Amino acid sequence: MKILACNDDGIFAPGLWALVEAVREVGEVIVVAPDREQSAVGTSVTLHHPLRMKQVDPPLRGVETYSVEGTPGDCIILGIKMLAGGNVDLVISGINEGMNLGNDVFISGTVGAALQGYFYEIPAIAISAALHKGQIRFDAAARVGAMLARKVKEKVLHPRSLLNVNVPYLAPEEIEGIELTRPGRRSYRDEIQKGNDGKRDYYWIVRGEPVWEEREGTDITAVRRRRISVTPLPGNLPGSERVTLLKDLCRALFDEIRSQPNRS
Ligand code: MN
Repeated sequence: MKILACNDDGIFAPGLWALVEAVREVGEVIVVAPDREQSAVGTSVTLHHPLRMKQVDPPLRGVETYSVEGTPGDCIILGIKMLAGGNVDLVISGINEGMNLGNDVFISGTVGAALQGYFYEIPAIAISAALHKGQIRFDAAARVGAMLARKVKEKVLHPRSLLNVNVPYLAPEEIEGIELTRPGRRSYRDEIQKGNDGKRDYYWIVRGEPVWEEREGTDITAVRRRRISVTPLPGNLPGSERVTLLKDLCRALFDEIRSQPNRS
């Protein structure tokens, strides 16, 4: 089992390494990640100039790790086509610092990396953890990442699966469910700040607070109810069979997440 791990917060972000530590128990992990933060770049791919990449010393010993001057999408393509020898069984992205809910999935670099895996028909999982008053914890998210990786290894997940997973700011034993969801409505109100650099005007897009709607069955509502949200993307799942399978999977994962001893 070969796992390609990436993120959009940059190669040394603690969320990535919490995830790698958890999933390395399931398979061999290779990390290919951007050398700097690339949040909100979506699945953009660099086609107009060459990419630079270097192997770096990983925070976890023995994990083959590459730092790329590029986007999360670039990292996944390099990982699949070149570094992992074409044999990737799972693409996993995260753990993002902050949830990717609702319309975030269209611009999220975390989801964007997973989306590239999906384009190559490799099971792909994006995982994000909630920020709470500037604090973050990765324990439940890392645990659910490892559990899902194991399900991929057991071939429970369809090969063309793309899951966007969001984890509330809770200890694993405080999680109240794992829910199969659809993306809700949540968008940012942007502000434009205009300035002048001495030569030319510039325009800076500044993200405001998001606006959202609470609706039954959405990722937004699930995390508000202290549940882990599992959103299959694209939303049009072929056939009710897969929905049933995924619902069963969520139930099994929930039983499992609370039964494991706390290692951290
Ligand atoms: Mn990010």
